[in-house]
Amino acid sequence: MSIDATDIRANLSRALRHRRDPGIVEQLSAISGSSPPPPLRVSGLASCGRKQTFSHQGTKATIPGDESLIAMIQGDWGEEGCRKLLLESGYEFKDAQRELRYSNKAGEEVLRGHIDGLIGVDHGALGTEWALWEMKMMSAFRFKKCNNISDVRISSPEYFTQVQLYMHLLNMDGEKIEKTIFMAVAKDPSAANMGIKGPRLDPIYIEEISYDREVGDMLLQRAEDIYTYSLTGELWPHERNPSKDWDCSERFCEYYSKCNPKTTLRKR
Ligand code: SF4
Repeated sequence: MSIDATDIRANLSRALRHRRDPGIVEQLSAISGSSPPPPLRVSGLASCGRKQTFSHQGTKATIPGDESLIAMIQGDWGEEGCRKLLLESGYEFKDAQRELRYSNKAGEEVLRGHIDGLIGVDHGALGTEWALWEMKMMSAFRFKKCNNISDVRISSPEYFTQVQLYMHLLNMDGEKIEKTIFMAVAKDPSAANMGIKGPRLDPIYIEEISYDREVGDMLLQRAEDIYTYSLTGELWPHERNPSKDWDCSERFCEYYSKCNPKTTLRKR
């Protein structure tokens, strides 16, 4: 190891690859045959069901580039910084990275996820009131959209799915969680404000999302359906189309070359 730019770049790249998405690490051990099929991930349940069956069946994924790894690490930094700010503002925190699991009637683990934590307010003799806390770092484009729509259910349905499932699983675990405090922080506030006439956007967006038990039940059913279907060895039907959906692309789908959607969709 030496203190020169080329060496640091190479060592950094190696370190970044060690920080790879845990789903992919699980997937790689599944390929080596050393473990049962990995559970689906709460954070990915709204993504293309076909992509989830690829992952669940241990199909080798394209290794994410440094760009997506850095984005994940920025998420960790943002989460840590915001938690500190909220603590300084008088809020309480617990259960950072608490793991939540859901198993089917056969005892197979179908779904797993980790929460950013629970945020609380001390009401003295009445006890502490807790809510789920979910924090996201957003690109300028995404942050602007989030502010313009002011409803995470519409602007980022995948995040809405994620928090509804977390609240559902927490309540199944015996907690009484009725809402999520959803916080989004602009990665680049200047870029997010480009082209905006009038007041600049606050770099922190906050929304309360109420728990909806029916949505939670529906999402658990989706997880069970994809999981069970995947065990047959078949791939879930296409839920995305490269000509319409941004996430159905080589950049955002690690199974794009295996799925080859342009050809497989044309054949149908
Ligand atoms: S390439 Fe598109 S259709 Fe195929 S798995 Fe990925 S997101 Fe789904």
